[in-house]
Amino acid sequence: MNIPEFFGENVFNEKVMQEKLPKEVFKSLAKTIEEGKLLDISVANAVATAMKEWAISKGATHYTHWFQPMTGITAEKHDSFISTTNDGGVLMDFSGKELVKGEPDASSFPNGGIRATFEARGYTAWDPTSFAFLKDDTLYIPSVFCSYSGEVLDKKAPLLRSMESLNKQALRILRLLGDTETARVHATVGAEQEYFLIDRKVWEQRKDLIFTGRTLFGNRPPKGQELDDHYFGSIKPRVLAFMKDLDNELWKLGIPAKTEHNEVAPAQHELAPIFSLVNKACDENQLTMEVMKKVAQKHGMVCLLHEKPFDGIAGSGKHNNWSMTTNNGENLFNLGKTPYENARFMLFFAAVVKGVDEYQDLLRVSISTASNDCRLGGHEAPPVIISMHIGEELQAIIESIERGEKYHTGAKNTIMLGVDSLPDLPKDTTDRNRTSPFAFTGNKFEFRMLGSSLSISCPNIMLNTIVAEELEQFADILDKADDVDKALNELVATTLKEHKRIIFNGNNYSPEWYMEAQRRGLSNYKDTPEVLPHYIDEKNVELFARQHIYTKREIQSRMEILLDNYSKVRNIEALTMIDMARTDIYPSVNKYMGELVSFIKDVKSTTPSVDTSTQEELLKILSIANANMMKNIKQLEEMVELAKTVDGVSPKATFFADKVLPVMNNVRKYADEMEQLTDAKHWPFPVYGDILFSIV
Ligand code: ADP
Ligand code: MG
Repeated sequence: MNIPEFFGENVFNEKVMQEKLPKEVFKSLAKTIEEGKLLDISVANAVATAMKEWAISKGATHYTHWFQPMTGITAEKHDSFISTTNDGGVLMDFSGKELVKGEPDASSFPNGGIRATFEARGYTAWDPTSFAFLKDDTLYIPSVFCSYSGEVLDKKAPLLRSMESLNKQALRILRLLGDTETARVHATVGAEQEYFLIDRKVWEQRKDLIFTGRTLFGNRPPKGQELDDHYFGSIKPRVLAFMKDLDNELWKLGIPAKTEHNEVAPAQHELAPIFSLVNKACDENQLTMEVMKKVAQKHGMVCLLHEKPFDGIAGSGKHNNWSMTTNNGENLFNLGKTPYENARFMLFFAAVVKGVDEYQDLLRVSISTASNDCRLGGHEAPPVIISMHIGEELQAIIESIERGEKYHTGAKNTIMLGVDSLPDLPKDTTDRNRTSPFAFTGNKFEFRMLGSSLSISCPNIMLNTIVAEELEQFADILDKADDVDKALNELVATTLKEHKRIIFNGNNYSPEWYMEAQRRGLSNYKDTPEVLPHYIDEKNVELFARQHIYTKREIQSRMEILLDNYSKVRNIEALTMIDMARTDIYPSVNKYMGELVSFIKDVKSTTPSVDTSTQEELLKILSIANANMMKNIKQLEEMVELAKTVDGVSPKATFFADKVLPVMNNVRKYADEMEQLTDAKHWPFPVYGDILFSIV
């Protein structure tokens, strides 16, 4: 198998473009891509024709603008290339206009009140920085999705805007530091994706997995992850076959899947790609999730992307590795070898520290969903308080900068900011205990709070935007300075001093940290309904306006969509729970109790000397638990009804979190108790052990 040969074979990438496009067209397109602009129509026509011919030669019949509405998944509307001719025939047609702009009837996508249905039409436009690709005989065109009044309705357009802002401010800084060469600064991202693989046959028997993606009932199996025998363990042949197939499919789509391994929980695995430009990384991650599900299906399995499919077992996240790179491939978060690089590193690093501290709430907002709430703060999951791990060495450097002292690195190096070189950070000084939600890992920042099913778009919009903001403030200060070197030194020192409360290198799971974080005044929001309203805090609205990312109306609509989504998810979960309890668990336990009753009766009439007190005791416990479960089910039904009467997206979400969820937990408690006491052949669906060890 020749991987370089087929890598990206289904992608209309630079190599193909160079081959298929007239020279001037290619040059113009390359420039558009480099500058992140929209395409000129004359160029678009030529590109469209080449794209169509390439796609048709590979068997495509349809094309689609592929976009990322606020549903969190991708959307597509397929059009065929055919257009009719005068003589009653058809030809395969695709114009520049169709490439650049599409018009899906998008009235049923969530828009948070931005568009009334009478003005429902939005449009989609190609994002030329992300390559078109072929999938299922269809040409996919990565697109932004906007309303006709220009408001963004998707997750891509604001991401592109944030990249633009970051580039602009980073370039200002570089120029101030004397860099006249760099033409563009990009955010780069590698998203490590965790997931569970289970056998399709067990999945089919669990309504909760089918409808909600997670189990609403179930006890930990006798064997969980305590032996640590799954993490990096040898991969089962069926899973290996899946991973191989997955890699192949991803490679054909030009997605650089690099590492596949087992994760901590049984049946849990991870895929890491090689990092790319943030908007490409985002497209690639969406595709990766989709392809994972498809390939799993082919192998008779189901890929679970929910953040917490199994209570008491490690959940799945997505590590968002974020960095900034120049068009020359220089990583701005590489520690310096020269005084210049050293100063540059410290300045950009300080910008991130300040940004994360000032906008903790926005980072928290960006990862908050109903499903991620089930995972955060739990076993193996990052806590809900945002802090930054930077490692001991960097910590020591910062402390010496703060004191205005020279930093000693063992034998030979004595360094001071902007004067000497910084030491290479060995990789093992980076966060090994992995408890930090936001860790500097050598030359990138690893944001670990993202849930496994989340689009990485919003967290990266936040990162790009807050760092752009801090860089802008820095540039404004340096702009006015007579002595840039001196001003930079002062700026770094004061910034780090003022924002060091966000830095924490200890164990984020320890109870002491909660106390310490409180003392430091770090924010601590318990769940999604509590944090989302902060999206529209004055300071955040101002930030997004200043950096040209969102208008207030746009943020407001986003917040509403997210809150509404929270309520809908919890509502589906509650209804599923009611259904399973009423129609599966209750009758099954009754059946088993019936068996117990006849057994006891039988024994009593035939062999009265035999003691049946154990059976009678069991019967009693089961009947009480079953009755209690049903009592809570009734209450849950009432709560779900009551939720309908709660006005406003925010109060409704809070109602679900504070009133509905506790009742669901009660239902579960009684059901799980009965699961442990009921004859396995009577339990109506596969239990955790059956599911987690379903792949042999
Ligand atoms: P781990 O976190 O498991 O130790 P690595 O540090 O090698 O693994 O990489 C994790 C992810 O970070 C990979 O997806 C990798 O491509 C990505 N990554 C590495 N360097 C950068 C960078 N400069 N910018 C963004 N992502 C990066
Ligand atoms: Mg990692």
